[in-house]
Amino acid sequence: MAIRIYVVEDEPSLREMVQMNLELDGYEVTCLSDGLTAMNQLSELGTADLVILDVMLPNHSGLEICEAIRKSSAVPVLFLSAKGTTTDKIEGLKKGGNDYLGKPFDLEEMLLRVRVLTEPARLAQKQTFHELILGHKVLNFETYTVLDTATHESESLSKKEVDLLRFFLENEDKVVSRDEILDNVWGKDVFPTSRTIDNFILHFRKLFEEDPKNPKYFHSIRSVGYRFTRN
Ligand code: CA
Repeated sequence: MAIRIYVVEDEPSLREMVQMNLELDGYEVTCLSDGLTAMNQLSELGTADLVILDVMLPNHSGLEICEAIRKSSAVPVLFLSAKGTTTDKIEGLKKGGNDYLGKPFDLEEMLLRVRVLTEPARLAQKQTFHELILGHKVLNFETYTVLDTATHESESLSKKEVDLLRFFLENEDKVVSRDEILDNVWGKDVFPTSRTIDNFILHFRKLFEEDPKNPKYFHSIRSVGYRFTRN
């Protein structure tokens, strides 16, 4: 499931730039362009994973909107504002904002702050995976075991296998490259070969697929990587 971000910004070029770059990073972005629309969608804003809020907006200021959001939600709020003085930052934080970026800002810095502010949402999503059911096989993410509900036999998996399955589940229906898998599951400082991943997939197919030669769940995407799907 993607991390959901609302961007409330009245400057079209900035709004589009922010949206495009967040989407490139894999976030699901909804944009609003004025204060009144934002006030009318408070419950949507409150249930997002992050709200990026411009301070100077038509109809209602970002500060007012943040104050209204805070009445019912603890969603992280990142202020963007041309008024970059310390007093303005303090005012923004007093209204319940979590972070403040003065305009113009460095894109890289904005993406890093977004990354930090959405970390709790990312962790919460990870923790929601307790099991994965594929056909009559059930993987328990806490015990690393796969139970065959037809035969009642169970098999243990290694931590890496479970991490990789969790990564597939987090990226369900998306094509993931071998490099992405290596970065996310093995970490940047470890260098297993792509062949390692292929062997893991062979094992998953043997374990979960009814017909490993004609996989339903673990698809190879030629010269790119893999796509996991439960449909
Ligand atoms: Ca503005």
